[in-house]
Amino acid sequence: MKPIQMVDLKGQYEKIQSEVDDAVIDVIRSSMFINGPEVKNFQQDLEAYLGVKHVIPCANGTDALQIALMGLGLQPGDEVITADFTFAATVEVIALLQLTPVLVDVEPDTFNIDIDAIKKAITPKTKAIIPVHLFGQVANMDAIMEIANEHNLFVVEDNAQAIGANYTFKDGHKQKAGTIGNVGTTSFFPSKNLGCYGDGGAIFTNDDELAHTIRGIVNHGMYTRYYHDVVGVNSRLDSVQAVVLKIKLPHLNDYCNSRRDAARAYTQAFKNHPHIITPTAKSNNTPNCGEICSSCDCHVFHQYTLQITNGKRDELHKHLLEKGIPNAIYYPVALHAQKAYRDDRYNEADFPVTNDLVKKVISLPMHTELDEAQLNFICETILSFMDAN
Ligand SMILES: *Cc1c(COP(=O)(O)O)cnc(C)c1O
Repeated sequence: MKPIQMVDLKGQYEKIQSEVDDAVIDVIRSSMFINGPEVKNFQQDLEAYLGVKHVIPCANGTDALQIALMGLGLQPGDEVITADFTFAATVEVIALLQLTPVLVDVEPDTFNIDIDAIKKAITPKTKAIIPVHLFGQVANMDAIMEIANEHNLFVVEDNAQAIGANYTFKDGHKQKAGTIGNVGTTSFFPSKNLGCYGDGGAIFTNDDELAHTIRGIVNHGMYTRYYHDVVGVNSRLDSVQAVVLKIKLPHLNDYCNSRRDAARAYTQAFKNHPHIITPTAKSNNTPNCGEICSSCDCHVFHQYTLQITNGKRDELHKHLLEKGIPNAIYYPVALHAQKAYRDDRYNEADFPVTNDLVKKVISLPMHTELDEAQLNFICETILSFMDAN
């Protein structure tokens, strides 16, 4: 058996190696490292793939979130609602812009932002909601858009983990994750579902005016060269990353399918275990089939995350590492409990789900190159540990 990786970037690269090597050498020979034609080419390909009017590439997924909030013109003191159970980048940019983060609890089955908790958190100062499509699954966008329309709020989708996922609305139509709210953001960090070979990110919107504003913000607030109309930032995707992404984008659907195949194998192995809860792949408007079926396109499995309910999560984590099975605790601490984001405004009783998940979750190896022998070994190792404990 090949050694098991948490994310096998090398194995994936080897399948597109000659194409990537040639394209990267071409960029070097052209010397157009920044704002070259390759960036525009990738931007257009991604617009077509997502079915969105504007993609604005930038330097990373954290910048993308910050720039999206700047583009919406939010002012210090405005409240922004986001999930308590996610990577810190989301709350970090809210705080950096001197907006007020309002962390709310998540749903126990999808790990995504809880709709009733959003409703409870709305005040006259609320200006935006940032749903994070966590671990690759789209949040309940029907309900979120309804709340946003009712209260006149912006919706910024943090799509760093769910690029390629589809959301099926109540009326049956589908849209790509990240293209539903006012603006969506993503990360091309190497381990993300569409990763480059360094840092990268992008912002998506169907709003022409907002796209224009954002194109200036990413470029020092310039709309005309050397005329700075607003305070901006410097945030660029470089040409080397753009050619890598352009080559990988046509494979993205296959990459998502490979991840779902691995997820299906895991779920089959663990679904009947009394102390393991497998992740739910559920569109809000399609029944939860309990499997990872072909219509589970709402989930692209950035992570495959189990809940261990017998209190042995930390022991399992160590045991798997000893057996050569990488695994990770995403996330070990609720954001409202992190030193940087603690606040007297929060009440522990408002976060029952997140406070429970941080003790139970464990994410298994998940990437496009997992083979049957590796999957079998991982499943057998986990099941024999669970049965012995
Ligand atoms: C990775 C990630 C980000 C940040 O992306 P970077 O490119 O690393 O800055 C933001 N939000 C979520 C949910 C992420 O997973």
